[in-house]
Amino acid sequence: MLDLAIIGGGPAGLTAGLYATRGGLENVVMYEKGMPGGQITQSSEIENYPGISEVVTGMELMESWPKQCMRFGLKHEMKEVTRVSLNDDKTFKIYISGGEEINAKSVIVCTGSTPKRAGFEGEDEFFGKGVSTCATCDGFFYKDKEVAVLGGGDTALEEALYLSKICSKVYIIHRRDTFRASPATVKKVKQSSNIELVLNSKIKKVYGNAMGVEGVLSIDKEGKERDLKVPGIFVFVGMNVNNSVLKQSDGSYLCKVNEYGEVIVDLSMKTSTSGLFAAGDIRIEAPKQVVCAAGDGATAALGAISYVDML
Ligand code: FAD
Ligand code: NAP
Repeated sequence: MLDLAIIGGGPAGLTAGLYATRGGLENVVMYEKGMPGGQITQSSEIENYPGISEVVTGMELMESWPKQCMRFGLKHEMKEVTRVSLNDDKTFKIYISGGEEINAKSVIVCTGSTPKRAGFEGEDEFFGKGVSTCATCDGFFYKDKEVAVLGGGDTALEEALYLSKICSKVYIIHRRDTFRASPATVKKVKQSSNIELVLNSKIKKVYGNAMGVEGVLSIDKEGKERDLKVPGIFVFVGMNVNNSVLKQSDGSYLCKVNEYGEVIVDLSMKTSTSGLFAAGDIRIEAPKQVVCAAGDGATAALGAISYVDML
């Protein structure tokens, strides 16, 4: 029986592991289906993590976290959790992909979020063949070429700025004429000489051949179409929370979630189910920042320590 199972190894999960083990819990496993680090490892630059004064890539930021977080006994198992359920004695059962089942006294869910699909024609067909959700991963393929970016949030504009340093030109296609992104980022985009804004527009379709994307057809509010001959389109239209591990066989959730599937927590990261905590991007009103996810992880771990101590 584990004292604590942590699901997800991004900033929230890693920090939860550090605080839980350093705070005295002995049998703590962090299940992370990939390499620890989380979604920020896909970001080309981060400049708002306190204490890191220079601009670094997400990968650089996260490089030292696993070593530090595992110094006090946290174990990482590279396994995917499929579900968490409640046993009759109020402990939890963790179902691992492949059939393994583990019991734990407490659980912190830190499974984060994943990029949404926009839903235009050709998006699925050309995904990985010109349609991408990761500029750091795929930007270099379009060196000195023109590309398009879809979206008007922080991710879209920041990644467009990153791409503008590699590509000859970046078209930002956005469905409105104002942006969700922070004013400072919008200003940088507007000052960039090789970014063109295609506003009040959506993508009608992405087309191409067996080799990949050849162009993007956009359409504006007046119905005017524009054919952008680009070999790559980066889609940054928001994130979905990864809450499937909380879904029970009858379709209900193990704890209360809101209409968007975000886990409802209190200020201690406690969910509506005793012994179950949620931290990071998966929770309600998450600022969706690395520093906040890490803070949540620490808070949740302190809660888990108290909970296990009281059993
Ligand atoms: P995540 O980082 O999403 O980590 C969740 C982890 O859980 C993942 O590693 C995933 O593999 C794992 N997982 C999911 N399901 C399972 C399962 N069933 N079993 C096992 N493992 C599972 N924030 C900033 O502060 N500054 C920035 O500049 C910034 N830039 C960003 C740029 C981009 C392109 C993106 C996408 C995000 C950016 N963010 C930024 C936001 C930041 O990355 C997130 O807020 C933060 O990573 C959330 O941390 P988390 O631990 O909650 O979740
Ligand atoms: P977001 O803020 O939700 O923005 C999504 C954008 O995509 C919006 O502009 C939205 O348009 C557009 N959109 C949504 N669905 C669409 C569709 N089907 N077709 C076309 N456009 C669509 O998402 P995000 O940019 O990924 O950011 C997620 C969170 O992470 C935010 O809280 C953000 O602040 C944070 N983040 C922070 C940083 C940073 O601090 N430096 C960096 C990256 C992300 P509308 O505006 O019209 O709704």
